[in-house]
Amino acid sequence: MKKKVLSVIVPCFNEEESLPLFYKEINNVQKIFDSFNIEFEYIFVDDGSSDNTLNIIKEFKENNKNIHYLSFSKNFGKEAAMYAGLKKANGDFVTLMDADLQDPPKLLIEMYQEIVENNYDIVIARRKNRKGEPVVRSFLTEIFYKLIAKISKVRMVSGERDYRLMTRSVVDAILSLPEYNRYSKGLFSYIGFKTKWLEYDNIKRVAGKSKWSLGNLLLYAFDAMIGFSTVPLMISTFLGILFCFISFIMILFIIFKTLIFGDPVSGWPSLVCIIFFVAGIQLFCLGICSAYISKIYLETKNRPLYLIKESDDDK
Ligand code: UDP
Ligand code: MG
Repeated sequence: MKKKVLSVIVPCFNEEESLPLFYKEINNVQKIFDSFNIEFEYIFVDDGSSDNTLNIIKEFKENNKNIHYLSFSKNFGKEAAMYAGLKKANGDFVTLMDADLQDPPKLLIEMYQEIVENNYDIVIARRKNRKGEPVVRSFLTEIFYKLIAKISKVRMVSGERDYRLMTRSVVDAILSLPEYNRYSKGLFSYIGFKTKWLEYDNIKRVAGKSKWSLGNLLLYAFDAMIGFSTVPLMISTFLGILFCFISFIMILFIIFKTLIFGDPVSGWPSLVCIIFFVAGIQLFCLGICSAYISKIYLETKNRPLYLIKESDDDK
């Protein structure tokens, strides 16, 4: 019987320290998959690393014909790297995995069993806790998931990772969504399919540093909200109605007050405050609209998500 193929996609950005450790670990898992009659295909996506990452990948490739790689012309971000990997993958099953061993490769076995035995289309790793993560980051992440659950129809689960094993049909569905502003967790949720979340304890990265600063994460969260909810656009309508109502009451109040007490010139400080307040709200609403317009702008330019400097296809 022809062996089935499992593609392992690994986005790498300056991972020279983690990669050798990762490769050793995934090789151990590969041996177990051999007994299931499954062959591994590796796709390393070098996301514009400035260290030795690409050379390390090439060294791996010398001893393993199942290794493929793509190298971007600059850092395009993990989302672009994952998309490039999915496009290049040929496997019947495909997994996305970080290079820093925060996504335990051993979990693949359980994921695979869920797909084969319980007919799931996609199995997603979910952290039970955030041990070892900075408190502020965990706190803000929790707020983000609560907020997005309220304003978006797309379901996103707190603690879920990009680490997942999926069938070919899921990969094809994701590839049919070539949008520029990508938030994969949202896209995966959007496409549906029978999904299982596998829980595991959080693991610290094995070497090197996280590439995400708090600022980056906030922007990423903002992208997710703009990308998967139009509720913020309605805020301006809601506030507009509210302010019309308030001003109507105030007009009535002023008319009656003038009729009863006359009209001495006073109250300019309160007037200035109101002007500032309303102007602030207007700018805030304008800001929300601009956020959507800027996304539309980027989307209509139709720029590629990434540019490839070299890949093993060149050989
Ligand atoms: N990564 C990437 N491009 C980037 C940032 C990260 O390909 O611009 C890769 C990185 O090499 C790693 C994975 O994405 O394999 C997760 O990154 P990281 O560990 O920094 O994120 P965290 O686990 O802290 O969320
Ligand atoms: Mg990590």
